[in-house]
Amino acid sequence: MKVNLLKCMACGKEYPDAPDRYVCDKCGIDGILDVVYDYKSIKISREEIAASKNYSLWRYRKMLPVADSTQIAPLQVGWTPLYRASAVEKVHGLSHVYIKDDGRNPTASLKDRASAVGIAKAREAGASIICAASTGNAASSLAGFAASAGLKTVIFVPKRAPRAKVTQLLVYGAKTVIVDDCYDRAFELSVETTKKFGFYNRNCAYNPFLVEGKKTVAYEIWEQLGFEIPDRVYVSIGDGCITSGIYKGFYDLIQLGLADRLPRIIGVQAAGCNPVEVAMKTGEFVAQQGNTIADSIAVGIPRNRLKAMRALKESNGDCISVTDDEIKSALLEMPRSTGVFGEPAGVTAFAGFKKHALASNIRTDEKVVVLITGNGLKDIESAISVCTLPQPVAPDSATIEKHVKTLV
Ligand SMILES: *Cc1c(COP(=O)(O)O)cnc(C)c1O
Ligand SMILES: [Zn+2]
Repeated sequence: MKVNLLKCMACGKEYPDAPDRYVCDKCGIDGILDVVYDYKSIKISREEIAASKNYSLWRYRKMLPVADSTQIAPLQVGWTPLYRASAVEKVHGLSHVYIKDDGRNPTASLKDRASAVGIAKAREAGASIICAASTGNAASSLAGFAASAGLKTVIFVPKRAPRAKVTQLLVYGAKTVIVDDCYDRAFELSVETTKKFGFYNRNCAYNPFLVEGKKTVAYEIWEQLGFEIPDRVYVSIGDGCITSGIYKGFYDLIQLGLADRLPRIIGVQAAGCNPVEVAMKTGEFVAQQGNTIADSIAVGIPRNRLKAMRALKESNGDCISVTDDEIKSALLEMPRSTGVFGEPAGVTAFAGFKKHALASNIRTDEKVVVLITGNGLKDIESAISVCTLPQPVAPDSATIEKHVKTLV
């Protein structure tokens, strides 16, 4: 889709489209830009989309800010399954609950949607080294995509990033900097480094094009529901980029005449790190120290909060929080009732959904989508901490028989 301009979310100043124009000159890091399209530049119909045999996010290539001639990375991303969660419907007396499993992406999180577009924009900018900071998933995603595209990466992660995510960086060959501090500091250092070294910046909460990759999850939900808009989408919030992307995707569909309304976007944060919830309630943003088992959303200074709050407000949505105990319950309840295993931040959306369902906040006929943003194998330490590991059993038939009787 033709980009008209890039517009500052804080002051409204407009900038011409360029792959390496990141933030507003006046507002700096708080002035994240929004990609504004010339919606009249494309004609697209449901029939044309439905006829596509490309089962990846590139089936929506016409609706993305990537030139036709730009080479894209080979990893297959998007078109993740949308499952009907019948057992969950039954438990809560609801009629339409769906689980969108974005842990099925190539590096096992929704971040791959952003990386796919990020790599394309880095190519348009002529960059050879890409840099990012991440709680873990954006890092492992960038590392995988860069490897597939033959580009180099320098990646900053906080000390507490789970081992599986750091391992992904190492196996993909990313130059990895483990910052002896929290994500928010790793983020600042990565921005500083991109400026000093001229690296391409793949921070979703800095580079405006990355949210445009994340918006494809909204297109897919719409298409997979038979070209229908759900009533609610539950999503966990860290920096707020996924939330912004969901809004942008549905907003695009309305502008293109393909849909006529937004779903209510319900953001879910961890109670130990809920700056967006507080800002929504009080109108005032206060930085926090992130403290939650859900490492991917342990973001005390959500950099894309302006875009995320616009998404929550304009969709008549809300931001709620759940405790770590509620997240831990969801770590088991979700896989046991749906077959989908999510990491703590991935099941946070499910915990928020459950909280609303138990409070009878959801009408029984509403169509609800719960977005699972990351795979459970990303953080097995957290998952196993809520399980009981069985003791080894003597390997003789009689003991096994006796033992199995105690299980069933
Ligand atoms: C990054 C991430 C989030 C939060 O996304 P934001 O765009 O930072 O709000 C949630 N869940 C998982 C698994 C993530 O990796
Ligand atoms: Zn500005």
